[in-house]
Amino acid sequence: MTRVWVGALMVTLMCLMPLAAAPAADRVGPPNVTADAPKSALASAGEPARAKVVRHVDTRDPVAFLTIDDGIHRTAAAAEVLDGIPATFFLNSGPVTAGKDYWSALGHPIQAHTIRHPTLTRLDAQGQREEVCGNAARISKFTGKPVWMLRPPYGVFNATTQHVAAGCGIDYIVMWDAIAENGRMQYGRGGGMTPGTIILLHFTPRLADDLRMALAAMRKAGLQPGDLTEYLPARSTR
Ligand SMILES: [Zn+2]
Repeated sequence: MTRVWVGALMVTLMCLMPLAAAPAADRVGPPNVTADAPKSALASAGEPARAKVVRHVDTRDPVAFLTIDDGIHRTAAAAEVLDGIPATFFLNSGPVTAGKDYWSALGHPIQAHTIRHPTLTRLDAQGQREEVCGNAARISKFTGKPVWMLRPPYGVFNATTQHVAAGCGIDYIVMWDAIAENGRMQYGRGGGMTPGTIILLHFTPRLADDLRMALAAMRKAGLQPGDLTEYLPARSTR
């Protein structure tokens, strides 16, 4: 079963993208994630549960991942680009509430980004718990779906974050290895766009342009947008 997303726009993109036009069947689909010990196994080994940090998805599939943060600016132009394209949103609680109609119309998965966007390492465990778990609960209530990924504000977290997040069902702290912002692509250590690259974007007034830029960079690398929720599925049983 192919899980590589195919939609109207990607059909167009794939016509321009011979490398990815016909991926071999055995290269398509989410990775086998069973190598990761489930939380129960970690606990039985005497280690407290903690969310796993992911900066790049381990896959050879021709996919990269759009992740879009905050949710403050919600433009019609960005919605048009995002229509039918997989992307994961990491939203603060205020924008979740303020943009209900926008998020509902798009239908993309929404994951956690804290209630108020603090620097988590400046908070004690209880403060971090309120920010992370409160935001996750708010999102779950809105979407009716589980929340199992956290993007920490500014990409700043510590071991306490990993523990408190795991305590409210967060399996992954999702970082990134590429940034698409203000008309410029930036790549982390290792260079360019490769299979499994996680791209950070923000809901800014110019998100539509940044999305087009990121999609063009993917296309140039022979990649297409993948669904992060399929490649990093929830590890816990819920
Ligand atoms: Zn943010």
